[in-house]
Amino acid sequence: MQWEVKIKRDRMEGEEERLNEEDIKTIEEVGAISFRAIDKAKEMAKPGMKLVELADGVEKFVRDSGFDIAFPINLSVNVEAAHYTPSLMDERTIGEKDVMKIDFGAARDGLLGDCALTVDFSGENQDLVEASNNALENAVSMVRAGAKVRDIGKEIERTIKSMGFSPVMNLGGHGVGRHDLHADLFIPNYDNGSDDELEEGKVIAIEPFATTGRGMITEGDTCEIYSFNGEAGVRSQGARQVLAEISSKYPSEPFAARWLSNIIPSKFGLYAAIQELVRSGALEPYPTLIEVSKGLVSQAEVSMLVEKDGCKVLTK
Ligand code: MN
Ligand code: MN
Repeated sequence: MQWEVKIKRDRMEGEEERLNEEDIKTIEEVGAISFRAIDKAKEMAKPGMKLVELADGVEKFVRDSGFDIAFPINLSVNVEAAHYTPSLMDERTIGEKDVMKIDFGAARDGLLGDCALTVDFSGENQDLVEASNNALENAVSMVRAGAKVRDIGKEIERTIKSMGFSPVMNLGGHGVGRHDLHADLFIPNYDNGSDDELEEGKVIAIEPFATTGRGMITEGDTCEIYSFNGEAGVRSQGARQVLAEISSKYPSEPFAARWLSNIIPSKFGLYAAIQELVRSGALEPYPTLIEVSKGLVSQAEVSMLVEKDGCKVLTK
């Protein structure tokens, strides 16, 4: 998942701490289970399967393994680049020719995993999938303390263009802090001229997106992922119930609307309550992100710990 088009929440600012040895052990475990989860999703996913069944199954796997969830599983299909997660009672199924991005992460003690892969169900878009995979591999080989993010972005762009596709310019990698999936650093998928450098001991995620389209995303008109901004005055009983649930269960990490079906089982009632909370400012919405020229999109992502002379990939 990524957040480049959103304004950074300032709630967690000032929490610049270095990971100690125990944290590193924990984030390695979080990374390993995050990778197992997307690998399992890839194994489970078949044309005709309901997206909501896949999402519920993989999220349950992480919870049953004793971990929390960093963000709802993103199952963005074809022209959707990111941030689609199934709705409550979602009827969508996987299509024979779909190109599906599976982007997910586990969490423990606020330490987060973030990784993604792309499944090409027809086998007709293998080059597109390979473009983001190769770009990721080349980018990871450049990671070391002091590496410039613009040079990594330049290599991602070069790799994707060499295969005849475009990088998505307004999505990219990022730092990963405690309880903060969008820590300060932005790692572009092109040379953006930034002087930012990678720092030893920091966790980052790199995520090239390749597309057959122009390489820009915009917000679509569906939204299934939200995060808690803070308390706000709301009138309806439904909105108050949802607010109480979110502020206690999902105070930091993003959540999916369908996770609240135990509070309001009616789809209409649940989405009405959520809309009221968005209008009041209590919730931040993360709409589905769509490629502007309706190009197919592939994505590959890993999280890693930056080291003096290289990096340790965590989501493997
Ligand atoms: Mn991600
Ligand atoms: Mn990410």
